[in-house]
Amino acid sequence: MFYALSLLIGICIGSFLNAAIFRVQDETSVWKGRSKCMKCQEPIGWQDLIPVVSYLRLRGRCRKCEQVIDWQYPVVELVTGLLFLIAYVLTPFSFVLLLRNWIFISYLVIIFVYDLRYMYILDRFTIPAMILAIIANLWIGSISPTSFLIGAVVLGGFFLGQFLLSKGTWIGGGDIRMGVLMGLMLGLEQGLVALFLAYVIGALVSTSLLITGKVTRKTAIPFGTFLTLATLIALFFGRDLLNWYLHFFL
Ligand SMILES: [Zn+2]
Repeated sequence: MFYALSLLIGICIGSFLNAAIFRVQDETSVWKGRSKCMKCQEPIGWQDLIPVVSYLRLRGRCRKCEQVIDWQYPVVELVTGLLFLIAYVLTPFSFVLLLRNWIFISYLVIIFVYDLRYMYILDRFTIPAMILAIIANLWIGSISPTSFLIGAVVLGGFFLGQFLLSKGTWIGGGDIRMGVLMGLMLGLEQGLVALFLAYVIGALVSTSLLITGKVTRKTAIPFGTFLTLATLIALFFGRDLLNWYLHFFL
């Protein structure tokens, strides 16, 4: 029962995240106004606002102008739903921990999609996420304040160092804030696991894109997508990965 509910809540949150991403880009209010078709600007009726279902029923096209609806809508809805379900499966016994993880997932998904689409890690996502991460981790207490504060300084400092060394050409200011956020969410230990993981994923993805000829050496790849992905993985499997790694190499 709660499995289905988790999936459903996630899908609805995913739907809200989609709207937030496009509205932030459009500079319209996230909270006010009706949803419109991106192509013909026709307001969307309530019967076409049901996540995933409406997309399938309309076969991915606008009811009015019949232009293709961005695939980001159903994909983000489904992925957020699945992530909420995974969070429930992995933390079924603590409601506050589950709630914390759902909030973290929402912010990580929105940062991921926005960076993938527009190549920016926005402060209006990372700053509120930092505040929530501090409150949630202080409240729950599974990560000590020392750990997440040092984590924030170390990970943020890691990117700040690169930023200063390269005079802002390797990475942007958004990456520094993302590093701070990772430290606050995960604490020092898991934060370092996530940082390491981000570089592994980044190397694997970049290499395979280069080999398949999808990108050239000059193509800018949004690093924030690897950071958010790695943070998600570390959030759930950080401890297991660390144990496995230590066991394997020591
Ligand atoms: Zn339309």
